[in-house]
Amino acid sequence: MLKENLEEVEEKIAKACERAGRAREEVTLIAVSKTKPVEMLQEIYDEGIRDFGENKVQELTEKYEVMPKDMKWHMIGHLQRNKVKYIVDKVTLIHSVDSLRLAETISREAEKKGVTVPILIEVNIAGEETKFGLSSKEEVISLSEQIAALPNLSVKGLMTVAPPAKDPEENRPFFREIRQLSVDITNKNIDNVSMEILSMGMTNDYTVAIEEGATMVRVGTGIFGARDYSKK
Ligand SMILES: *Cc1c(COP(=O)(O)O)cnc(C)c1O
Repeated sequence: MLKENLEEVEEKIAKACERAGRAREEVTLIAVSKTKPVEMLQEIYDEGIRDFGENKVQELTEKYEVMPKDMKWHMIGHLQRNKVKYIVDKVTLIHSVDSLRLAETISREAEKKGVTVPILIEVNIAGEETKFGLSSKEEVISLSEQIAALPNLSVKGLMTVAPPAKDPEENRPFFREIRQLSVDITNKNIDNVSMEILSMGMTNDYTVAIEEGATMVRVGTGIFGARDYSKK
């Protein structure tokens, strides 16, 4: 069943790339496996997927221990500073950096472990109060400049979680805005800041996000099915 889900997602990604005149290789599919058992992750791994997204530190480290070592782990959820030390040397990318204090902690812990951690700056483009992330362009630009000065960390782009929408078309303007913001930041030529990654689009709206320039899409439900939180 998961294999069929994945095939469907892959097909939609391919078609969206085609519509946008983009190469399929420009888009990385991240399988968002939060709340799902490792057996299900293994099934998707066996289909060739290597990028997995988790939003909780403990769940990520537990799965990290038992899954194959060539898996790439993406931290996509809100990250508490006191937990940074558990993941800095395990993750491929931290998508959810929304403050200088968090970036400073990542920098310090990465230095202790002798690694350099790629990060994305989380942008709350719709300005929703319930969400994390920076909500003004000026804030994003100034945070990028401040973070750029920190050692053992490099800014690779932007991430956003668009609002839930009945029609994914509603989120197109947000994705477009993020892409434009990444162009604006690129044009500032800040040392140690690149905008090569745009992490945007989830099950509901990833095809629209790809059309608007996403280089990473985070798909959970579309691959693993609905999540059940009742048992926790
Ligand atoms: C859960 C989650 C996803 C995946 O959501 P789906 O709608 O299940 O695809 C993507 N990004 C973030 C940040 C998430 O927390």
